[in-house]
Parts: sequence; structure tokens; C-alpha cells
Amino acid sequence: MIGLQTFLQLGIRREINYTLKSLGIEKPTPIQERAIPYILEGKDIIAKAQTGTGKTLAFVLPILEKIDVQKSSVQALVLTPTRELAQQISREIKKMIENVEGINVLAVYGGQDVEHQLKKLKGIQHIIVATPGRLLDHIRRGTIDLSTLEMLVLDEADQMLHMGFLPEVDMIIRETSSSRQTMLFSATIPSEIRSLAKKYMRDPEFIEIKAKKVTVEEIKQIVIETTDRRKQATLFHLIEEHRPFLAIIFCRTKIRAKKLQDALVAKGYKSEELHGDLTQAKREKAIKRFRDTDIQFLVATDVAARGLDVEGVTHVFNYDIPHDVESYIHRIGRTGRAGGEGVAFTLVAPKDLDFLRMIEKGIHQKLERQVIQGISIPSQEDGKQVDSKQKSESNRRSKERPLSSNRKEDKVSKTKSGKDKRKATVHSSNKMTRLKKDSRSKRNSNKSTKGRRQGR
Ligand code: ADP
Ligand code: MG
Repeated sequence: MIGLQTFLQLGIRREINYTLKSLGIEKPTPIQERAIPYILEGKDIIAKAQTGTGKTLAFVLPILEKIDVQKSSVQALVLTPTRELAQQISREIKKMIENVEGINVLAVYGGQDVEHQLKKLKGIQHIIVATPGRLLDHIRRGTIDLSTLEMLVLDEADQMLHMGFLPEVDMIIRETSSSRQTMLFSATIPSEIRSLAKKYMRDPEFIEIKAKKVTVEEIKQIVIETTDRRKQATLFHLIEEHRPFLAIIFCRTKIRAKKLQDALVAKGYKSEELHGDLTQAKREKAIKRFRDTDIQFLVATDVAARGLDVEGVTHVFNYDIPHDVESYIHRIGRTGRAGGEGVAFTLVAPKDLDFLRMIEKGIHQKLERQVIQGISIPSQEDGKQVDSKQKSESNRRSKERPLSSNRKEDKVSKTKSGKDKRKATVHSSNKMTRLKKDSRSKRNSNKSTKGRRQGR
């Protein structure tokens, strides 16, 4: 059943179909296939599907079909929890209407120049993508009138709840026409969202795309056991070992994000921070640099990175473990988008184990655990640091090296002269010594590669 229809068969016009194809989007995803017909029919819907399944186009495409360009009123409103998501969705809509005449879309969010926004609002805007706070400002000023609204989308509804936006959402809905069509999209449907739906929706169709597992399957999830003191060194070790192309590193607080950002920059990595303490311009710049692969790392807090869809994110690092299952799912969903592969590392200190158990229970999955031994604590003096770094390198090497080859080497040494034999015995009883030597040369060669890479 799934994937048999084309966008054209679903009722999406040729011009948009052409644009979709040019972007490599050929077949609707399951949520798109199920949601688009209902939305075109004018039905209210509640759509539940995990992150990265294409929910945005599931509402954007049918909305575009239903906009009447002859009317100069605001016909569709998309409410999103964050500024970044508002920008992302309006960008996606603009892409979709590249070959379509007459539809106007405007993103409205906090931190943006109000004058500029007001000027744009004087023109005709058919679709508004907004965060609740700034939209309410405009409603109070009388610069946005929602009384003629025909279509309302609540995107990432669970996150709006999480961020305490439900009262604002409630106020906004009351400003709209009661004949509107309401669509709610979410990865999870907590009870508060259910009651909101009950209050404001008319006989909604409930669409659920069930995942085989709660988390996206393409994402490899690994738990790294560490301690608070070793966290930073552990992260650096993982970065060096896995060389992510683009990675998002999640921290629990703004302060921790800032601190880690400074440490990354001090190490010569190209990185930006993304959290609520930054000005809107800075946040936009960080995301743009990341999108353009100008930087390798984005150090973010949950709120700032919610819904962010950047192509090519290969790794997510949970530097601090999330404190609820939903955040975990959202965070790791930043990688492995639309079928691409991704890896999510979660750093876990002993005090985080309860949270880890809660997450594993929530996603019905036991996560693979890895320990990187011998990681040094940054405050230690240099000599020691090198020593333990070597140890961790050798650990990795001994993991990579098949046991049989180790044995073979030992055997070979044992057939040598008596003097060598003694050496061989020492070596085989203390493989570390031998591996340490190996790793020193390897580390040096690594160093020069790193130097080159960072010199770019
Ligand atoms: P969600 O809102 O469900 O988390 P998004 O709407 O952000 O997911 O989509 C995730 C990614 O999938 C985006 O990069 C989007 O361009 C891509 N995508 C959406 N629909 C399709 C499709 N039908 N085929 C291929 N890729 C798609
Ligand atoms: Mg989404």
C-alpha cells in the first residue's frame, strides 16, 4: 500500500511536482501519503510520526494547493516552537513555490527587526509561519488579523507543550475563525495535546505512522561510559576517532554549551554555539555556517536545536544525557534524516545511569555500551596526559587488532634467539608496552594529519 502513489496522484500540481523531483523527492513518505488526501479534503487531522519522516511537506504541499491567490488575506498559519524551525519551514515553502506564481509566505518570530516585519506585513501574505510569542505581539498591535484564517497547523506540538507555549497557542487559536481547518503534527501526543485537540478540533482523523522501533532505525546509538571529570577528554577522543563530517553536540545548559564551545575552539575545531542567550543574528549565523559546512560542530541546547533539519549531519553527541525520553528521540533525530545514516553517542557518567535506564525503557531498546579507558583528565600535567592518551589509543588498537594476529606475533618472537625470547616473554605478558610504542608513532602521524586538516 505504502509508496505506490506519486505526489501527482495525491493531487499535487505539476509545477510543484517538478520542483520536488529536482530536489530528489520522488515518492511521498508514509505520513505524506496518508495526510495529504485528508488535508486536501478539508478534514482536521492529528498526525503522529517520528522525527525525520517528512511531516513538513505533509502539510506544506496540500496547503499550497488550497491557497487562493486571488484573496489578499492570511489563509494559512503554521505555528512552531522555535525561530529556527519557523525559518526552516518558510524556507521549505519558498522552495516549493519557486515555479508557482502569486503565493506569498512570511516567517514571523522573535528577535527579528520589527520594522522590517511590519513593512512586510503591509503586503499580501497568504501563509504565515510563526512562533507563538511574536505572533501574539502582532495580533495585539493589530498588524496581523487571523479572523479569516482557513488553515492552522500546530507543528511539533509536543515541543510547544514542553516549552510552555500552550497558553499562547490557546490564545492564538481563539483569534482565528472557528470554521478553520486544524492540523496537528507531533512525534508524540501527550495528554495535554490530546485535550487541546479535543477542545479545538472537529472530528479529527488520527493518523499514526508506527515505527518498528521508537527511534529511527538508521541511527546507530552508542552509550559511552565516562565520568564528569573525563567528559571533555572523552568527547575529544570520540571526535578524533570518528572524525564527524557534521556533528551536533548537545549540552544541558547554556553555560555548559558555552564552556564546551570555548574548549573546542581552543583545540582548533571549527564550531559554533547555539542557545537562547545569543542574539537572533548570532543564532542565524551559527546555523547558516553549519548548513554551509563552514563549521564542523554545533554545540547546542535542546530548545535551540529542536526541529533543525540540516542535511549531512553524521553524528549527534549527547554530551549531557537528556532528562526525558522525548528529548532523546528529538536529539538523535537530528542525524539520519530522511534515510541517511547517522550515529548518536550518549556520554553517561555514573550519576546519569537512572536517566539512561529511563531512556532505554522509553525506546524499548537496550543501548550498546562502550568504555574508553585511560582517558586523561584535562587538569593533569602534560606528560601524564600523553601517557594515558597513548593508552586509550592502544586500547582502541588492541580492539581493532584481531586476537589471532597478536598471538602469531608472540609466536614469531618466541622462535627467536634466547635474548629475544626473553623480550618476547616480557612483551606478551605486557602487551601494553609494545602497543604503546606502536601507538606513539601512530599518534605522531595522526598529529600531522590533524595539523593539516585544521590548517585548511
Ligand atoms: P519531520 O518534520 O517529520 O521531522 P522533515 O519534514 O523535517 O521531518 O523532513 C526530514 C527530511 O526529509 C527533510 O530533509 C526533507 O526534505 C526530507 N523529505 C521529506 N519528504 C521526503 C520524501 N518524500 N522523499 C525524500 N525526502 C523527503
Ligand atoms: Mg518537523
